[in-house]
Amino acid sequence: MIQDPTYASMNYNKITLAFSEVNEHLFLKKYFSDSIFQFRVAFILVIFLYGSFGYLDSQVIPEYATAFHAIRFLFVIPILSIVFLLSFTRLFQKVWQALLLISVVAGGFGISIMTMFAPENYTYYAGMMLVFSAGYFFIKLRFFLATIAGWSILLIYNIGAIYYTHTPDELLINNNFFFISANLIGMFAAYNIEYYTRRNFFLSQKLDNERLLVLDANKNLERTVEERTKELLKAKEQAEESDRLKSAFLANMSHEIRTPMNGILGFAELLKEPGLTGEEQQDYIRIIEKSGARMLNIINDIVDISKIEAGLMKLEIQESNINEQIQDIYTFFKPEVEAKGMILSFNTPLPTKEAILKTDREKVYAILTNLVKNAIKYSNTGTIEIGYSKRDSDLEFYVKDTGIGIPNDRHGAIFERFIQADIPDEWAQQGAGLGLSITKAYVEMLGGKIRVASQVGVGSTFYFTLPYNAVLINEPVIQQIVPSDNNDLIRKLKILIAEDDKVSEMLIDKTLKTFGKEIIKARTGVEAIEACKKNPDIDLVMMDIRMPDMGGYDATRQIRKFNKEVVIIAQTAHGLYGDREKAIEAGCNDYIAKPINKAELLLLIQKYFHK
Ligand code: ADP
Repeated sequence: MIQDPTYASMNYNKITLAFSEVNEHLFLKKYFSDSIFQFRVAFILVIFLYGSFGYLDSQVIPEYATAFHAIRFLFVIPILSIVFLLSFTRLFQKVWQALLLISVVAGGFGISIMTMFAPENYTYYAGMMLVFSAGYFFIKLRFFLATIAGWSILLIYNIGAIYYTHTPDELLINNNFFFISANLIGMFAAYNIEYYTRRNFFLSQKLDNERLLVLDANKNLERTVEERTKELLKAKEQAEESDRLKSAFLANMSHEIRTPMNGILGFAELLKEPGLTGEEQQDYIRIIEKSGARMLNIINDIVDISKIEAGLMKLEIQESNINEQIQDIYTFFKPEVEAKGMILSFNTPLPTKEAILKTDREKVYAILTNLVKNAIKYSNTGTIEIGYSKRDSDLEFYVKDTGIGIPNDRHGAIFERFIQADIPDEWAQQGAGLGLSITKAYVEMLGGKIRVASQVGVGSTFYFTLPYNAVLINEPVIQQIVPSDNNDLIRKLKILIAEDDKVSEMLIDKTLKTFGKEIIKARTGVEAIEACKKNPDIDLVMMDIRMPDMGGYDATRQIRKFNKEVVIIAQTAHGLYGDREKAIEAGCNDYIAKPINKAELLLLIQKYFHK
């Protein structure tokens, strides 16, 4: 068992019973304050008794009465009275034990003389016994001082009795017999009394210490509980906050989806009205297209942010020329910016040969596109500039506008997801508030940092860095595949459209009509397999991935068992992670993301069937 130091046994001197220094000091203080009352009572009594026994002097040995009274009233009682009176002074605490010792010895000395002169008389012998018991038990003298006093009195008595009064031996022996016994018993009892007094003190002190420890532990516990409660409250607030943000986000999202939906459904309805001019029809269709594009944007953002959150966003690192990327973006957005009456410019200081980054090309596009789109969205006049400069081992890109600017206190918040939705925002335009958080995530994935410098009414500049490790190449050979205008194919195709959704099916049907000599339709995976079995000469299968009874991947696997030649193109939901891998693994030749983009689909057809 490990001995706890607080349970250490009492440390004291076995003879004097004194504790080690600090404790002794404390003990004596306490002993004094506990004893002072009893001491005073005892002294009054002792003085009274010592005086009243003077009556016996005149009765028992009248011849010595005067001398004995002198001893009593002129020697012992004055000493005792002085000590008693001193007990009311401050000094007393320091000297009280010494004064008690003197008092006992003086009292004992007086009785010794009386005993010597009246050796036959039991009165004085009994008085002597009283002095011993008062010294040892009554007046609060400490054990070892009482012992000194007791034996000193005995010594005084014996010296006096032997040398001055020549007390007979028998009497001397008798008296000594009792006096020695009284001293021994007194010592033994006083030792025990003091020992237990000290033990009490020691134990109560230990108890106090432990109580303090417990109090301290309690305080600590309270503090810990308080801290934990605070942490919990904070966590709760955070949870509530994020809950609130999510609800706000959902509400905003619902609004963002409903608005374009409204446009699509509303104008589709209007299109049905008879008597529309051709121009009106084109207008409505343009609105429908725009609304659809806007909705697709939102859905893309949601998918992207979920992929980022789930850690599924992958990087495809390759060499890419950022001068060309910036020029592409410039070309793409120029018409839109100019239509707003603004100027778009770019600044690519590195020579094209050196403007090579090892990075994810698509992500850089997405970052720049997002920033430029925002610049256009939040500016009405002035210029928008795209560019970069070299900073140590990084390239620092910027997209600068002269738009409405962003208040200082929102410079951090705009990069948080959902935030836009939450802050009542006079600046907020359409948008889910996800663009910048996606952008930030991309920049960080590519090893860079994004920040904004902006002043309300002056404009904003978004900066982001990308690590730059120049790779010099001779001449970039970038081969771009552009759908060619001629639609000459090797042959007209026999096409199977496996698709359960009527609208999607119609869309593919209309897009592929020019290439098809025959278009077959299947609504489920099983029907698709059947159709392929019946028509071994099918050239192309447009395979939807989600269909009732059997999905597109399983159907493809089945078809590949008996037809290895047919070109199968999987139509997947928007670029969810691993779509391409899954499609190829199932036996598809290629895949196209829904909603199907006409140009993209034509590119694919040309890839597989061009002359
Ligand atoms: P969204 O544009 O869809 O609301 P973003 O995440 O792209 O979401 O932008 C978040 C917010 O940052 C915007 O709502 C807008 O208040 C502010 N913001 C972004 N870019 C600019 C800019 N170029 N000028 C002014 N404000 C901007």
